[in-house]
Amino acid sequence: MVSARIKIAAWAVLWILAGGVGLANADEPMAAEPRTVRVLDNIYTIVHGNGIDSNTTFLVTDEGAIVIDTRVTPGEARKVLDEIRKHTDKPVKYAINTHFHGDHTFGNQVFRESAAIIAHKNARSALSGSNGLDHLNFFKTFNIPGLDEVKVTPPNLVYEDRMELYLGPFHLQLIHLGRGHTDGDTAIYIKELRTIIAGDLVFNKKIPYVSSGYIDEWIDSLSKLEDLDAEIIVPGHGDVGDKPILIRMKHYLIELRNYVTAELAKGSSLQQTRDAVRPVLREKYRDWLNLDWIDANIERAYLEFSVKKKT
Ligand SMILES: [Zn+2]
Repeated sequence: MVSARIKIAAWAVLWILAGGVGLANADEPMAAEPRTVRVLDNIYTIVHGNGIDSNTTFLVTDEGAIVIDTRVTPGEARKVLDEIRKHTDKPVKYAINTHFHGDHTFGNQVFRESAAIIAHKNARSALSGSNGLDHLNFFKTFNIPGLDEVKVTPPNLVYEDRMELYLGPFHLQLIHLGRGHTDGDTAIYIKELRTIIAGDLVFNKKIPYVSSGYIDEWIDSLSKLEDLDAEIIVPGHGDVGDKPILIRMKHYLIELRNYVTAELAKGSSLQQTRDAVRPVLREKYRDWLNLDWIDANIERAYLEFSVKKKT
């Protein structure tokens, strides 16, 4: 009896040390620690970053490095640079932003000496002038340390549909598939390595942020990505995976759309839709993180599909 009590106490201490107390949802899986993973020779992804867990990928060549997404603050971006320096002392030749969100771009100023900061033209618009300042102010509401240092630095080389970039042995195809997570997403396809760096078009086992997204078109964009010959998928958030993580993301969005449009067809209000769809999605995706974002996902879908219903 005594030993059973000790065992329970020891288990409870381990659980507390592991962060089991204080989570908004005790049933939600825990966030992982930041780490750098080698995706392929000379391609690395830093996953589960601090502050906000957006991923950064860097490629190392004899001619310099390429960094894809620059994290949420200059301080976090300098950590990326420190990681790059473990592999090369060559300059960072290019930075690429997969989209405009601050957790992928607010470290841009650390890479302003590179030959170019590249993104889709709509990502530049979203970070230019008052748009960029508004976006920074929105991020400041999350109280992420280090944001005061941010000088919004929009990409300075933009493209519309497709761009190709060659550096050392690498050939990167920057592809804009249409609207999706934002109106200016870039997926980076390295055909020769059957690899896609998908940005936030793919969240791996995390409920996606959809508030600047277009759910129907996002599903279409993911179908186009799925058609590419690729094996390795680097998501914008979560662990590096393979084709199924892309397909799971698409299925999540399809289910979100289907459940919300079914409620719209019944004439349900937003509140009724939330109450009906939330428990279903929470149960189906209970092993994903960010379950609290499901309400905002439902809201965005309700808005998008109620407008489409009228037109
Ligand atoms: Zn994003």
